[in-house]
Formats: sequence, structure tokens, C-alpha cells
Amino acid sequence: MGFLQQFHLVIKYKKGIHNKVVDMLSRPIINASTILKHNTVLHESYIEQYAQDADFKDVYATLSHDKKVEELDYHVKEKLLYHLGKLCIPQTEKVNIIREAHTSLISGHFGVSKTVAQLQRFCYWLRMHETVSRYIKGCTMCAKSKPSNRKLGMYTTLLVPSHPWESVSMDFVGGLPKSRKGHDYLYVIVDRFDKMCILIPCNKNITAKQTTKLFFQHVWVHFGLPTSIVSDRDSRFVGKFWSSLW
Ligand SMILES: [Zn+2]
Repeated sequence: MGFLQQFHLVIKYKKGIHNKVVDMLSRPIINASTILKHNTVLHESYIEQYAQDADFKDVYATLSHDKKVEELDYHVKEKLLYHLGKLCIPQTEKVNIIREAHTSLISGHFGVSKTVAQLQRFCYWLRMHETVSRYIKGCTMCAKSKPSNRKLGMYTTLLVPSHPWESVSMDFVGGLPKSRKGHDYLYVIVDRFDKMCILIPCNKNITAKQTTKLFFQHVWVHFGLPTSIVSDRDSRFVGKFWSSLW
């Protein structure tokens, strides 16, 4: 505000058509003209490829022989084939176009739907969604930066315990048939030194507090507190209750 107050600003609305200097980021990423307008080489290559393209050769041949085909959604303009006003992209050019729409500096590696939407604004080919999805699946940059692919840290080996019940691992085993007492879950505690295993029957909806109680009843009274516990970070093992208890 301090900076702006030095100026006597008057904000005036300017119509889009008079606003010649446009904001680059608000523009569509690519459009037919950027690809073809001043590129006669590419223009020629498209025309050559239509004749061999599995998807377009028939329709292109029909339309180039000046036959008026009313029911088709296609038309030819300056020797280029269009489908409902969208430029038809021959087989070999698809990858280049997708790369431009997905990986170029201003396109920012969007997902399949956004990339397809971007492409559909000006170009057309059959099964576009499938081609784009295959391309994005193979994109190294996307694979590297996806949160699910990121490693949480370096894997380190666990210290080897020197005596029994110094270090234990714990987990739940589920999906068991109900016992007569109504238990369908097992709380499994294994001593990492000698692999002694304690199986405690419980229920699937066991809480952190109940887990602790079982731990004290079945482990602590016999072996004391371990110095370390290995778990899968289940909320019942890492929740507030456990930390405050320790
Ligand atoms: Zn990507």
C-alpha cells in the first residue's frame, strides 16, 4: 500500500480486444496456430502423413477428391484435415503434441484429464485419452515427483538386540473368523531377540487405550518395558495416548 500510494492511480476497465499485451500465463498453452502457422515444413509433413494414417487416410482421400460429404464431421482447409473445427493430428505427430502440452516449461506436468482438455481445444485424434494417459504414465518427471513414489527416507537396518525382550515388534492380524468369545483380531507381539511370540485375541475396533492395557497385561508384567518397539505406525501405536504414556 505504501508503495502504491506514491502514484495517483485510476483503474479503468479495458476490453479484451483492446488489450494487446496479454498475460502469458493466462493464455492457452499451445494452439493450432503456434504449431502450424509459420511452420511450412510441418504443414507439408502433416499433409503427407494423412495419406498413410490408419485413422485418417480414408476420410482424407474422400474429402481431397472434392466430394462433398455432408454427414461427415470432417472438412479439409488449406489441405489440412479438421474434425469439427479441430486439427487432426497424424499418428507420428501425436507424441510431439502431447509433449508440448504436458512437459513444456509453461505446461507444468498436469494429469491426464487436464492435458486432454488442453489438447482438445484445438486438435483431434481418436482415443486421445488413451494415448495421453500412456504418455503420462511413462513421464519420468511425474513418476519422480508423485508423493506416492517418494521415499520417506533412507532405509536403515534395525539394531540387533543383545538380550530377550529388549526390542519387540507389534502388529495386528485381521480377517479372522469370530471365536466363541467374539474375538476376530489378533494383537501380535514378537520379541526380536528370540522370536518368542505373544498372540492376544481382541476385536477389530480396538482402541489405543485398550491396546496399551493388553500390552501391560501380557508383556510388561512378565518382561518389563522394551527399549524399542517396531511397528507399522498404526495410529493405535503412535497416537497421543502411547506417547504420553511413555
Ligand atoms: Zn510429466
